[in-house]
Formats: sequence, C-alpha cells, structure tokens
Amino acid sequence: MQLEKLQAFVLSNSDYGESDRIVSLFTLEHGRLRGFARGARNSRKRFGPALETFARIDVQLSQKDGLSSLRGADVITLYSGIRGELGAIAHALYTCELVECLTPEGVPLPRLYRLLAAYLERLDSGQLDEADRRMFEINLLNILGYRPSLEECSRCGAKYDGHGALLQQDGELVCRFCAATGRKLPLPALQRLGSCLDTSRFGQIPFDEESLAAAACLLDESIAGHASRKLKSLDFLQQICP
Ligand SMILES: [Zn+2]
Repeated sequence: MQLEKLQAFVLSNSDYGESDRIVSLFTLEHGRLRGFARGARNSRKRFGPALETFARIDVQLSQKDGLSSLRGADVITLYSGIRGELGAIAHALYTCELVECLTPEGVPLPRLYRLLAAYLERLDSGQLDEADRRMFEINLLNILGYRPSLEECSRCGAKYDGHGALLQQDGELVCRFCAATGRKLPLPALQRLGSCLDTSRFGQIPFDEESLAAAACLLDESIAGHASRKLKSLDFLQQICP
C-alpha cells in the first residue's frame, strides 16, 4: 500500500453507507480523483472540517486495488470569508462543480489548480464580481482545450471585422459571412475575453455591461455544450445572483 501526501481542493462529498463518505478532490499532483473516507460521518475528530466543499487541504491518500482511501487531512484554509457571504458561497460551489464536471479523472492540471486557488482567494477577500466568474470560465475552457474562437471565424478562418461574431447554438463562433443568424457578440467583448487569457490575476480586465452580457452568453453556451450534465449549483447561483 502506497501512502501519498497531496495538495487538494474538496470539490464535493457524499454520504456512503452508515458512516463513510466519498470525497471528490481536485489535487495538484493528479488532477481530479475520488477518495473513500472511512468513518468520516461518525467521527468528526478524524477529518474535522477538512472535507467541507471548497476547503483547501493537505491530504494523505493510500491506493489499494485502484481505490483511493483518505488516511488523514489537514486544513490549509476553509475560506471563512466566502462562508460568511451567500453570493460568494454560490460562486464557490458553482466553480467546484464546474471543475468536477469538466475535468478528466486522474489528469494533472496544475494551471487550473492555480487558477482555482486564485479565484477562491479573490472571493475570500470579499470581491464578488461577475467579471471574475467569466475570467475563471474562459481560462478554464482554454486550459481544457475548449477555448472558443475569439479572434477568427471557426469556419472560414477570417478575422472578425467590426461586426464581431455570431454565436451558434453549440457555442461555436463564426463570422457574419458564414452564418445568417445567431446572437451577435461585439468585437470588444471578444477582445476582453482574449485579454483574460493573458493574465493570471483577477480584477485586471474591466468589462462594461454589454461585454459582460455577451461574455455570459458565450460562456454559458460553451460550458453547457461541454458539460456532461446540467450543473446543480447553477440554479442556486442564479437564484442568489440573478
Ligand atoms: Zn467565416
């Protein structure tokens, strides 16, 4: 049996049987994985608050017969600043579910790990800005290889002119010569999203209202196209932050 110490975020956890839990983790070293936490429901002593969703932890895992078991976990931070604010909680839960739903199991994604850490720190500091959510999402799509075509038409390859791009139903972006219909995405919105990929710091790219609405349209459509299921936390987020 091999014991490993990993850095991780808790993406979600669910009860298993009488006293155990299955914990979904996003680790720096191996990406997303699921671990079995024996006795986690009965004994708070063993794991304390370390298995709360969006906690950042050091975790000791053992592998046996393809199953990961949690041997221990130490809290790095619970992000108490997020936990005191409903809007921040909704964003953090949504972000964790997004990572859980879109990332492959067992593939290390250190850039995404750092992005998630930076975004949670931003939320924890009391900043609640939809532009930050969109910055997280476009970078997530980019890291996973799902980046929408922000500069040129995905069909004919021509650079977008002053008319911007047209969004198709599956999240595809095309020029006005390649499609007759679709939601129009103005060029400045596409440029701002492109700029989000050039910085790893939140709060650097200002979005006006029109650009933010366009970014929301594009990203919501793209994410829905790549997610294997509807995100449960999205309803909660939309209720809290309409
Ligand atoms: Zn085209």
